[in-house]
Amino acid sequence: MYSAEIHFECYADTTITAVEQAINFLLEGYRNNGQILGREFPIAAQGAEFKVRVLLPDEDALKPSNNSPWVKVALERLKNAKLLSPRSRILGLDLNSQTATELPIQWQVLYTSYVHNCSPLRNGADLMPIPLYKIPATFNGDHKQIIRWQTQWQACDELQMAGNNKAEFAALDELKEIDSDLFRQGWDLRGRIEYLTKTPTYYYQYQVGGQSLAEQKQRPCPKCGNPHWLLEQPLLDIFHFKCDDCRIVSNISWEYV
Ligand SMILES: [Zn+2]
Repeated sequence: MYSAEIHFECYADTTITAVEQAINFLLEGYRNNGQILGREFPIAAQGAEFKVRVLLPDEDALKPSNNSPWVKVALERLKNAKLLSPRSRILGLDLNSQTATELPIQWQVLYTSYVHNCSPLRNGADLMPIPLYKIPATFNGDHKQIIRWQTQWQACDELQMAGNNKAEFAALDELKEIDSDLFRQGWDLRGRIEYLTKTPTYYYQYQVGGQSLAEQKQRPCPKCGNPHWLLEQPLLDIFHFKCDDCRIVSNISWEYV
């Protein structure tokens, strides 16, 4: 990812409220299209100028040709707040985050965790992120539903990792159980992505707990019951199971690996 700065400037009298709303509407549009990452965007005000720090999944993320219809509307609305078209510049490579995949994509997987703020769509070849603006819009002009699913998955992941409260088990069920809301939403999204990209797209089922390694190895595919989905070698050091019919990958509980 790249650290970047977006620069806004007023060309006539306006109000802070109008400026704030217009800039935040644009940032929301960029975020829902996968053009900027993360959830918090500090806006520094200096007189009639405003600077926003953002993380970009790739250098070309803010190119106009990547803009969603929502971003185009938001750019138009800047005029209402008397703001000029924004300018952006790359500050440098972000050392704390993963860069976008550069390998050919033969299959891909929806995979995230509470420590990752990059795209949840990963290349099956190297597990590196595929920026969402590089695939066709999933619903209603952008990727808002994928971003929402990712935010909820990360929230559940953080709760279950923290443990020691009653929400832990409810959160874990959302990640593990195929009839949970989060699993169904994610699995449907992966189907939509597969249809749009014509690329096999898998969903990751998180797994923890169980009785023993032997018992875990016999765990069947949670969707079709296929008992032969255990791989001889784990893929990408993470996925021990893969069902090609159901498009699900999963891991052996970490305590037994
Ligand atoms: Zn299956």
